[in-house]
Amino acid sequence: MGLCVYSLAPHHSFGLPSLASEFLSINIPVDLKAQLSELGDVTFYILGEGSNTIFLENYQGTIIKPAFMGIDLKQTETYFLLKVGASENWHNLVLWCMQRNIDGFENLASIPGTVGAAPIQNIGAYGVEIEKFIHHVEYYDLNTKSHNSIGSTACEFTYRSSVFKKRLSDNIIITSVTFAIPKDWRPVTNYGELKGLLKPSAKDIFNKVVDVRMQKLPDPSKIGNAGSFFKNPIIAFKQYNKLQQSWPSIPSYAVDNVSVKIPAAWLIEQLGFKGKKIGGIGCHPHQALVLTNDGSGTGEQLLQLARAIKTAVLSEFTIELENEVRLIGKKGPIVL
Ligand SMILES: Cc1cc2nc3c(=O)[nH]c(=O)nc-3n(C[C@H](O)[C@H](O)[C@H](O)COP(=O)(O)OP(=O)(O)OC[C@H]3O[C@@H](n4cnc5c(N)ncnc54)[C@H](O)[C@@H]3O)c2cc1C
Repeated sequence: MGLCVYSLAPHHSFGLPSLASEFLSINIPVDLKAQLSELGDVTFYILGEGSNTIFLENYQGTIIKPAFMGIDLKQTETYFLLKVGASENWHNLVLWCMQRNIDGFENLASIPGTVGAAPIQNIGAYGVEIEKFIHHVEYYDLNTKSHNSIGSTACEFTYRSSVFKKRLSDNIIITSVTFAIPKDWRPVTNYGELKGLLKPSAKDIFNKVVDVRMQKLPDPSKIGNAGSFFKNPIIAFKQYNKLQQSWPSIPSYAVDNVSVKIPAAWLIEQLGFKGKKIGGIGCHPHQALVLTNDGSGTGEQLLQLARAIKTAVLSEFTIELENEVRLIGKKGPIVL
């Protein structure tokens, strides 16, 4: 590989110092084949706004940075149909919709990142996941060198996952996402701080969500972080009942008839990690699920802290935590 020359620190919200060999910005979806022909066999990573990606060290490959913009609005009698370029900022899209009285995205306000990354981990907050609104996703397949479209059902959405993290992982570039937003709007207020709202408008929910998130989550522009570091684990009822014998106050949310979701933050907090630091990397003092970089952290320190948390949770609760954030080492994804 050539010399590492591109700084990735400003391209991921955790802000660890790291460099990449090549940085390729692409902006014409129809001409992707030509734009990517020079890529050949090299290692590459497709990067949105880097709010769910942490570069742990220098990356020995090419960063592909899509720049597909544009919002196209159509309507049927019952739906707003929005086709949005993958590189549009998610929160800006939420604002754009609010300004036009297109209601539905308000619970998902203030989630950082791009529209194209939203279906990949099926972004969600305050009782709503984006799968509810996705009609289809258009992408370019780097293996077959062809443009494709995939409907919502085939996206195989589950909690923080989709087909884009499985069969289609790492070999496609999402170019646009088309949303179908019902005109018959219903508020979703059965989660956390939204429960107190009486007959709210979409704007009331939006304001509340933005407010609560500002108070609860550290701002990545002030302290490096990538939101929730771990997923909330889903375990069988049977295991949950057993855990309750030792931990009577263990919280849970029913997922289906056989399993429950446990807040990972609660598990981490019980083991005393809140506020703990290894060098410049810390477990946030108010949000145990968020790991932070005070600006002096290293990839090695992050791995040490994350592995210590994972090992302790496994040993105390027999629950294996899975990272929500993508960890990228010098040759690609790293497993904790
Ligand atoms: C403070 C904070 C709060 C957060 N809160 C939430 C929350 O409430 N809910 C939630 O679900 N998430 C949350 N996140 C995580 C993050 O915002 C989402 O995962 C977001 O969708 C990531 O977008 P991105 O563009 O930054 O993705 P990146 O980190 O750039 O990429 C994420 C993944 O998508 C791939 N990718 C990106 N763009 C494309 C493309 N065009 N084509 C193909 N692959 C692509 C990358 O290769 C990578 O695998 C939070 C993050 C932060 C920092």
